[in-house]
Amino acid sequence: MAAVDNGGLFEVIVVGGGIMGSCAAYAAASRPGARVLLLEQFDLLHHRGSSHGESRGIRATYPQARYPPMVRLAARLWDDAQRDAGYSVLTPTPQLDMGPRGDPDLRAAIENGGAAEVASGSTSWPWSGVFRLPEGWTAATSELGGVITATKAVAMFQSLAVKHGAVLRDRMEVVDVAKQGEGLIVVKTSSGEEFHGTKCIITVGAWASKLVKSVAGVDLPVQPLHTLICYWKVRPGREHELTPEAGFPTFCCYGDTCIYSTPSMEFPGLIKVCMHGGAPCDPDWRDWCATGDALVDPVARWIDELMPGHVDTAGGPVIRQSCMYSMTPDVDFIIDFVGGEFGKDVVVGAGFSGHGFKMGPDVGRVLAEMAMDGEARTAAEAGAEVRHFRIGRFKGIPEKNLPENEINS
Ligand SMILES: Cc1cc2nc3c(=O)[nH]c(=O)nc-3n(C[C@H](O)[C@H](O)[C@H](O)COP(=O)(O)OP(=O)(O)OC[C@H]3O[C@@H](n4cnc5c(N)ncnc54)[C@H](O)[C@@H]3O)c2cc1C
Repeated sequence: MAAVDNGGLFEVIVVGGGIMGSCAAYAAASRPGARVLLLEQFDLLHHRGSSHGESRGIRATYPQARYPPMVRLAARLWDDAQRDAGYSVLTPTPQLDMGPRGDPDLRAAIENGGAAEVASGSTSWPWSGVFRLPEGWTAATSELGGVITATKAVAMFQSLAVKHGAVLRDRMEVVDVAKQGEGLIVVKTSSGEEFHGTKCIITVGAWASKLVKSVAGVDLPVQPLHTLICYWKVRPGREHELTPEAGFPTFCCYGDTCIYSTPSMEFPGLIKVCMHGGAPCDPDWRDWCATGDALVDPVARWIDELMPGHVDTAGGPVIRQSCMYSMTPDVDFIIDFVGGEFGKDVVVGAGFSGHGFKMGPDVGRVLAEMAMDGEARTAAEAGAEVRHFRIGRFKGIPEKNLPENEINS
């Protein structure tokens, strides 16, 4: 069956409706007159990828200097989108980073993020009553933190895309993207539908290696990991203290175990505290219990040691939610043209390595500008460097090379 949707040619066809594809569709559709189509393989807002759930954190404290300018640009674009939508998806909070004083990643994150280190040995910093730092540790506070309500944010960008004229189609699994003559791309789905466009943006998360290899023959070293979000019970009497209303921060802990958290918010009386990492998985065939307790027990020990008296770990987490990371060997993003016969007509955004959500609005803008203009001007003007994210940097790196936060369970 060869059907052309909506009587014609789309300027941009976006494949994949997670945060990146939804932001790209919004950015593209915001151009006056642009006809944009977004195709998603499952139901819109499903829970089988990486962008679903209650919360994601935002922070500018990054060990790699290339990210803080992107986060600052994102903060501006989150504001713009919320204004366009007329409602909020981001709750600003302070950010707290902590870890062994000499940890090189923590030191770089403090410097790059412009964080203020608390005085050594001081017990008068804002949350010194909550956290008990081990001997030789330090903590640093910064202003740009916050909680993004994840599924609501994806829904916001999808409805903004529609508001600006985009067409959204779900239950549309793209099986092929082919060049058909100069300036024409055909996108084919497993149900036999065909859509025609001039440019294509591929944002398929954990499915990126499979689809990009079959479409363009390009190897993307993106390893999906099955990971867990854990919510823990706050001890009676401590509930308010750990909320954004009480000024509690989003936080990250460096060192042997990477722990991150958002304040108690989405489930009153529970707080999200999680460990960064996961077990390799196949996005099409997931064993939903792949990590066992490997992402739970270290978090319980960490909470007991560093937040004594505040969170009850005895019964384990009250809520566990599954999610997927798409890891690259260097944990940096992939944003590039796929090249070959497609030249600059097909752009891919992938490998967001467990930290991309906060930058969704600028990644979407970058992808749309690359597809429509051949270059990413907004990011460059904001001092955000995206050239590093090219596919070519992986030449010679084994495909399955995993970053150190893999858990083999
Ligand atoms: C537990 C967890 C915590 C995280 N915490 C943070 C955080 O605090 N801060 C932060 O910034 N980031 C965080 N992240 C990372 C962030 O959520 C991801 O980087 C981001 O969601 C990736 O979005 P995506 O659009 O690339 O992928 P996805 O959300 O997976 O979207 C890809 C979409 O493409 C669709 N698709 C795939 N193949 C096809 C096809 N053939 N045809 C059509 N559609 C297709 C999929 O169904 C999916 O909907 C976290 C991630 C996890 C899992």
